Parts: sequence; C-alpha cells; structure tokens
Amino acid sequence: MLKIESEKQGRTSALPAPGASEVFQLLRDGQPRTRAELAQLTGLARSTVASRVETLMTLGLVAPYGGAVSTGGRPPSLFALNPGARVVIGADIGATHALVILTDLSGAELASARQTLNISDGPDAVLGWLVATIGDLLVQSRRSSSELAAIGIGLPGPVEHETGRPINPPIMPGWDRFDVPGLVQRSFAVPVLVDNDVNIMALGELSSNWPDTTDLMFIKVATGIGAGIISGSMLQRGAQGTAGDLGHVRVPRGGDIPCRCGNTGCLEAMAGGPALAAALNELTGGTLTNSQGVIDLVRSGDGNAIQVIRQAGRDIGDVLATCVNLINPSVVVIGGSLAQAGEHLLAGIREVVYRRSLPLATEHLRIVPSVAGQSAGVRGASVMAISHVLSPESIETASLIAP
Ligand SMILES: [Zn+2]
Repeated sequence: MLKIESEKQGRTSALPAPGASEVFQLLRDGQPRTRAELAQLTGLARSTVASRVETLMTLGLVAPYGGAVSTGGRPPSLFALNPGARVVIGADIGATHALVILTDLSGAELASARQTLNISDGPDAVLGWLVATIGDLLVQSRRSSSELAAIGIGLPGPVEHETGRPINPPIMPGWDRFDVPGLVQRSFAVPVLVDNDVNIMALGELSSNWPDTTDLMFIKVATGIGAGIISGSMLQRGAQGTAGDLGHVRVPRGGDIPCRCGNTGCLEAMAGGPALAAALNELTGGTLTNSQGVIDLVRSGDGNAIQVIRQAGRDIGDVLATCVNLINPSVVVIGGSLAQAGEHLLAGIREVVYRRSLPLATEHLRIVPSVAGQSAGVRGASVMAISHVLSPESIETASLIAP
C-alpha cells in the first residue's frame, strides 16, 4: 500500500523534482487553462509546460477543454482535469449498515449500494461483502477494475491510518489490528485508505457544503461522541490517530458517573445516546432503551425529552468551548444520529460555546447542523480516495512510469 497522503500536498519540496504534478495541481480545480497561463502560474518555460501537459494527457487525467478545440487544425489551447479518467470507491461501514459509492474524480456519484450488516460479524464477512459490492458497482457503471484508482473506507472505531488497521475498536470484535487494506487488495490492487467514521464525515461535510472553509470541526453525537478536525485544510489525526476523541473528556457535571472506558465523568457517559435514554427514564420513570426514543419524544414536543437533549447540548458545549479556544474553527458541524433532535441540541451547544469561548474565537464562528447527513461519511471516503489519487506524489509516480 502506498502510504502517501493527500494531506501532505503542501510539502512539494520533498519531491525529487517538480514534474507533471506541479502543472496538474493547478488544473485540479477543474477550471480550464491555457499553456500560457500554466507557464505563467508555474514559472516554467512554455516548452516544459507543453511536455508536462502531454504527459498528463497520456495519463488521461487532463484533456483538451471542449469549447476550445479550434477548427483550424491547431492544437487545442485550453486544458482541464478529466474527471472521468478514473473512478474511486467510497465506503462508509457503520455498526449495523454500510453505504458504498463509486464516483469519478470530481466526486460525482456513478453508482451506489446500501446494505444492512453487523460489523460484529467480523472483517472476513464484512469486507467480503464490500469486495463483492465493489465488483457489482464497477459492472453497473460499465467500468473495468483497471479504471479503479483507489478505495476509501470509513470504519466505526479507531484506525491507525498509516496501516489501515483498526486499533482496539470497542464495537468491532475480530477487527483489532486486522489488515483491512491487505484483504481488499487481494481483489483490487489499488491503494486502500482507511479512517474512522468521524474523520471521513468531516471530509464529506467540508467538500459537500464548505468547500472554501479551511478550519472545520465535525462533531458526531450518537452512541459515542467524537470529532473530526480539519485545521488549515488538513485533517488532523494526531500521532496515533486518536485526535478528536471528545467522548472521554471529563465534563464538570460528570462527577463519578462511570464510563465504558473505565474512567468517570466522561462526556459520553453524560451526553451519549444511552446516557440520554437513562436520564429521561430517571425523569419520567420510563423504560427507553436507546436514544431513538428520546429523539422521537423531542420531535413530538415532549418537555422532559427537550430538557434532557438541551442539557446534553450544554455538556457537549462545555468540551467544545475548550476546543474552539484551542483550534479556532470557523465552522462547527453537528452530525450523528442525535443531531436529528434538531435545534434543541444545537441551542444547548451554542449557549455554552458562545458564553465560554474567547470573543475573538467566536466572532465569526458558525455552529450548524450537518447538511450532508447520512451521506457525509461515504462522500468523505470518496474524497479521501480522490485526494490520494490526485496528490502530487501519486501524479509524480504515475507520470514517471507513463509511456
Ligand atoms: Zn470515557
């Protein structure tokens, strides 16, 4: 597996020599440009630009731009990214469901599949299904496996991104340190990138709805609570890939309430799905077993349920206020199943974040619900794969072996 990362895009100085990728990175935005413009933007000689454009056209990644083909037999003067040149797979595998899409290099969806499954069936069963589904989607969209350039996979637990192996995932028996890319690559010999679900949700939300934003936090509020952090346009995974694990930060109100991680007073033990059902049961003497019941009651206007959700928002806000001071995002997106509780959760979060964060950090801060919703993860998995395929390192490698 290539361990090259899209997030290292900025480090072009580490490349052996600037080649075709330097020209290509200017065309990645899809906007058509002439050789003269490319020469001006790169500072390269016209002849050098011409030969690099030629290489990129040989790779199929760049094509003459439709409107510019001259009728006089002169070579085309405008060039642009050719998004149909390759396809990638994005897969969002959750605890009980999976969503897979096949997209082109612009992220446009060509085919999709959805399946109910149990992550606890283990990696052989789940990834076996994924491999078969990738084959089906290629057939459906009349693409061959040679056109498949990369596969991005999101999993519902901690993942060591460098190796694609889940590490001690609490709800994924049989997956600990399993070589996910290795199994998938037995069927498809392409780069396979694996990350946790919250990180890919952050990428999906950013690319779908905040393309010009460089600093965004995606907060997933469900059974667990976690954050995907994009800072300076780069996904921040941390040294071991555990960055953004908000669920086990201690909250002031937490006291000695036990958490499944072994500590006490964690945010998740106060504001995660099961905690909310328990809190509402305590108020009403009810027998709810999961957070869906709480969401349903909030939606029907039940006062007790609204009170519980709003307090969860405040508890999340307590931790988030610290994050906002520390990281200074311009957008905080609230997603995950409990975000379906709508404005009441957001109101609680906003109440505390705006009161507790520094005025300068919140001056332009927006705290908003997820727009991508259930498709955030799968879109982000596709974005992760595309970023890898189009990264300077991948383009350099491809252009070195181009005919
Ligand atoms: Zn905990």
